[in-house]
Amino acid sequence: MSEKSQLKGQTLGFEIKVCNGKARVGKLHTSHGVFDTPIFMPVGTNANVKLMRADDLKSIGVGILLGNSYHLAVKPGLDVIKIHGGLHSFMNWNGGILTDSGGFQVFSLRDLRQINDDGVLIRSPVDGSKLFLTPELSIEIQRVLGSDIVMVLDHCPGPMDSYEEALKSLRRTHQWADRCLKYGVNEGQMLFAIAQGGMYEDLRRLSAQELAKMPFDGFAVGGLSLGEEFEKTLHLTGVTVESLPIEKPRYFMGGGSPELIVHLVEIGVDMFDSVFPTRLARHGTALTFKGRLNIKSARFKDDLDPIEEGCDCIACKNYTRSYIHHLFDRGEALGGILLTNHNLRFMMRFMERLRRSIYDGTFVDLKKEVINSYVKGEGDKLCYDSVDNTVFG
Ligand SMILES: [Zn+2]
Repeated sequence: MSEKSQLKGQTLGFEIKVCNGKARVGKLHTSHGVFDTPIFMPVGTNANVKLMRADDLKSIGVGILLGNSYHLAVKPGLDVIKIHGGLHSFMNWNGGILTDSGGFQVFSLRDLRQINDDGVLIRSPVDGSKLFLTPELSIEIQRVLGSDIVMVLDHCPGPMDSYEEALKSLRRTHQWADRCLKYGVNEGQMLFAIAQGGMYEDLRRLSAQELAKMPFDGFAVGGLSLGEEFEKTLHLTGVTVESLPIEKPRYFMGGGSPELIVHLVEIGVDMFDSVFPTRLARHGTALTFKGRLNIKSARFKDDLDPIEEGCDCIACKNYTRSYIHHLFDRGEALGGILLTNHNLRFMMRFMERLRRSIYDGTFVDLKKEVINSYVKGEGDKLCYDSVDNTVFG
């Protein structure tokens, strides 16, 4: 049976299977599979997750990847994606794909853009080309990409923006969300809105309440994890989530450290993405349940243990810490490849444990364990989410 006919008639949407407090386990039904939530989605900005082949991602349990529609529209350009029949075929990935709308680049390329109510003119940092991105064009790009989850174009304010500025960008975000809905996505695609509101509690609530009235398939919390205090991220996400419909998936954009995820799952967030595990891996840091290990440290030079005892990734099954330390010491790409495999497998195992604990009713115990053994554990310390929310994955 062809892939297409298998997918025919498949229902898209979200179902909640079990709750433990506000934390919930659900199933997200997309055109490219059904995925258990809470879920972590690795970032594949340039139609690849750096150093990982599609079959490696599949084998470690990755279900959905994130793609960046603005970057792909610049390079290789939509014509190239079109002749492949979409992003899934282009990158040989038959799992789920969520595409960002370009909204985050509106924020991150502040010096390279001009914005008004119609849209945003962005000058590419890659080749200097200019693109006037409107809500409609953003959806059209994502229709060509053929992603499973399409994000609306939003105006993400800066963390230091005034109340007036945050309100203005919120109004624009809501108007653009409405225009995206009216333009519409392809059959088989889902459309998610993005709640904004800057660092202001009442604007966060207002944004969620207004967007909740519109018929989106899911809702994202945008504009956080941008360097604000950890407690503020949690509080403002909580305020947002409380005003969103309980039956729809909630996606926290651009945050993915284990300590952030465990706190946000507790208040009912279902989806996460971040460059965090892959970027740390390329810089020689391994994630483990006991904390982070800087494999470049001299103490690993003759360490015959695997990166993490009990991990079933290709790095831990086949290689010692000593060997991977050596690869980093010599600047060999294989070091980054092995650690990326390990870190992404760690994230999959971490999410599996979270889901199981919600099923078992032991989420609170697991949260305590994560904070004690992971955050306060024996591993090397890095500041919270220090590599999150950067432009390039
Ligand atoms: Zn491993």
